[in-house]
Amino acid sequence: MTDEEKKTNPQEAADTPSDPAEPGSRPTASVAEADAESPKGDNPSPEEEKESGPEIPEVLPLLPVRDIVIFPYMTLPLFVGREGSVAAVDEALARDRYIFLATQRDPSVEDPKEGDLYRTGTVAMIMRMLKLPDGRLKILIQGVVKAKIVEFIEAKPAVRVRIDRIVESPMKEGSLEVEALMRASREKIEKILSLKNMPVEILMVTENINNPGVLADLVASNLRLKIEEAQSVLEEEDPVTRLNLVSTLLSRELQLAEMQAKIQNQAKEEMSKSQREYFLREQMKAIKQELGDIDGKSEEADDLKGKIEAAGMPEEVKKEAEKQLRRLEGMHPDSAESSVVRTYLDWMVELPWAKETKDNIRIGTAKEILDEDHHDLEKVKERILEYLSVRKLKDKMKGPILCFVGPPGVGKTSLGKSIARAMGRKFIRMSLGGIRDEAEIRGHRRTYVGALPGRVIQGMKQAGTRNPVFMLDEIDKVGADFRGDPSAALLEVLDPEQNFAFSDNYLNVPFDLSKVLFIATGNVIDPVPPALKDRMEIIPLSGYTDVDKLAIAKKYLLPRQLEENGIRPGKITMRDKAILAIIHEYTREAGLRNLEREIGQVCRKLARKIAEGEKGPFAVTPKSLAKYLGAPRNLPEMEGEADEVGVSTGLAWTPTGGDILFVEVSLVDGKGGVMITGYLGDVMKESAQAAITYVRSRAAKLGLPRNFHAKHDIHIHVPSGGIPKDGPSAGITIATAIVSSLTGIPVRRDVAMTGEITLRGRVLPIGGLKEKALAALRAGISHVIAPARNAKDLEEIPKHEARQVRFTLVKTMDEVLSLALTRDPFRWKKRKTKPRRGKGAPAKGAGKPKRPPRAKGPR
Ligand code: ADP
Repeated sequence: MTDEEKKTNPQEAADTPSDPAEPGSRPTASVAEADAESPKGDNPSPEEEKESGPEIPEVLPLLPVRDIVIFPYMTLPLFVGREGSVAAVDEALARDRYIFLATQRDPSVEDPKEGDLYRTGTVAMIMRMLKLPDGRLKILIQGVVKAKIVEFIEAKPAVRVRIDRIVESPMKEGSLEVEALMRASREKIEKILSLKNMPVEILMVTENINNPGVLADLVASNLRLKIEEAQSVLEEEDPVTRLNLVSTLLSRELQLAEMQAKIQNQAKEEMSKSQREYFLREQMKAIKQELGDIDGKSEEADDLKGKIEAAGMPEEVKKEAEKQLRRLEGMHPDSAESSVVRTYLDWMVELPWAKETKDNIRIGTAKEILDEDHHDLEKVKERILEYLSVRKLKDKMKGPILCFVGPPGVGKTSLGKSIARAMGRKFIRMSLGGIRDEAEIRGHRRTYVGALPGRVIQGMKQAGTRNPVFMLDEIDKVGADFRGDPSAALLEVLDPEQNFAFSDNYLNVPFDLSKVLFIATGNVIDPVPPALKDRMEIIPLSGYTDVDKLAIAKKYLLPRQLEENGIRPGKITMRDKAILAIIHEYTREAGLRNLEREIGQVCRKLARKIAEGEKGPFAVTPKSLAKYLGAPRNLPEMEGEADEVGVSTGLAWTPTGGDILFVEVSLVDGKGGVMITGYLGDVMKESAQAAITYVRSRAAKLGLPRNFHAKHDIHIHVPSGGIPKDGPSAGITIATAIVSSLTGIPVRRDVAMTGEITLRGRVLPIGGLKEKALAALRAGISHVIAPARNAKDLEEIPKHEARQVRFTLVKTMDEVLSLALTRDPFRWKKRKTKPRRGKGAPAKGAGKPKRPPRAKGPR
């Protein structure tokens, strides 16, 4: 026998009408699909068949099949290639289409003999046949009924068999046991189907089957059973036993399916988890790359690392910086925290931890530089050169801090710059004016939003070296309040014992300030806290005289302004008289700031002319000044003023230099009251009271009625009421005005005075005589009355100026009165005049000077 049948892959058998949808599964035995094409269109249902069964011949052509056991009601396509098998099909088709299918015990046998086949098989009907081009046949068969081979009838070309139809024993109706068994089987099937994710239509078929044997066959034909197992199910003739057998197989199948599903789930879970992670990671990478962060971050870290190495930090500081860098690396680059750390590290790497300039102090050169930059100031230069000499000899000098004190514009800053130049150091300055918060000096902790280092560290960064000349401007304007005392922090900055480890709140690591050369400046020394004052050597700088100003203007200010405005030297000449006119009529100051500004303005105006094409050269004369600077702003104070009753001229010292001030006194009817106005401080008010008491004690000598004060109120006023004034040095000026007012004797307008008064009429010394004298000169005063005990200060006044003013030194108030009033008030017997009485208005001519003085703090 050369028959060959092969079970086909159902997908190959696309023409199988009842092929189940599930790929790879067994062909489904379908009851419902009784083939319309079947020649016996009246194909009975399994149930019916069971009852009667079709007429089946006893002898049928035999078709041996491999790999599969055919059950009744099963529909499936088969390929038929073996010669004998093709003949058997042909024979069946030629007769009634019935054919007997028996499974080979060993599928590899090509030509199975009687012993190679199971004896129990299934009679099937060939429903359709297709001849393939290679000579093979493709048939569609449907199982009809089980049968046993009784006899082999060898014949050519096809083998025939005599069969004995197996008739199953009838079922006992309604057995609970059977019903339970059937249900259990159906449930198992359902579970298996759902576990395998298979379509559940088949359940509808099983639902309609009441016979356990039919159910068993149907299930068995759809389970992937081994040949032996399937055959044993086929051979079992008792339906219940058969279903039991199938049920056991189902259980096994269910277990298998469960396990399979579990494994699959696990695999899926594993897969999806790792897939998710992978996906997210990839996404993150893409985003970071998009933002340029991956490379950016490590590049930044490398960059900072390099800078930390290069900064030359002390070990402890470096450790901190590296710690912060590690923190930064661990942070998200866009987080707020990371930008704080980044800013901090930027500060750290940019500070001059180790960088310094080499000191190159040669006293000769230093002197040259100081002389080159500054006119006169001999004493100051001397002191600076001494200071530099000590510094040169002693490397770690813990000497005092120089502190230049004087009015604005007298050269404090420019001296500092020259010192830096002479030493070959960097120069920086920091203004302390108005600082009230310690954090301004020492910085804010980094926990504050927008925190920064204090000004000292900021200055150091700006300097770029750790040994600059560091000028602390306006040290007298440091104030203390609830935010802490900045001067305490300043002390730490300036103290050589402490400043090698200055602690800034922001940096949080010590910074060495010991190599810095600090220089302080201020207008006044009094407000500086004593502890700070102790650490400083005060070098006073006073205002300049006109002669000095002229010299400085010619030698320094004008050439500098010409250069700054791009004008060639020689293009402009400025006559001395023009410069003096600027000094007198356009500026009124102790220093040179305004003078330089005005000269600058003249130069700018001329620069424009030159730019517009005018050739020049230009000569600036006093007359042409108005063209460039407008009308004169200052007229000499005393010009055109007459001597007046009740108005005296005082001299005041102010932080911006000296100034003159007027004191007005007026008597009005009253009961001995005293009014003092003009924004005066307590000290000045008290000195007014002292003056009144002095006058009362001298009433008899001055020829005043004994009870003069009981009938009058005295009003003392110091004009420029908007400017605060204080100090005791106006005492004799006030007393003079009172006496003038009471006696009616006018005060000389060309006399100015300064001095403190005691109750007994003594005149006490005052400060700032040089400034006051210069102010008097500027105001056109020709006679200055000053306390005798200020005699030594007269030496400070430049000879040229000293010659222009007459100084009279006095010890008592009586002397002052004799000098300042137009007539001697003590020689009253010859006098006819009564004490002057104001009539609700100031005494005649009292105090309306054309130009109110600007005195701020007379002493
Ligand atoms: P301060 O710091 O005391 O307010 P500055 O140093 O700014 O004053 O001086 C104001 C201007 O006057 C600067 O241009 C400065 O060069 C100039 N100056 C001051 N004093 C002299 C001087 N003795 N010789 C030359 N120029 C001077």
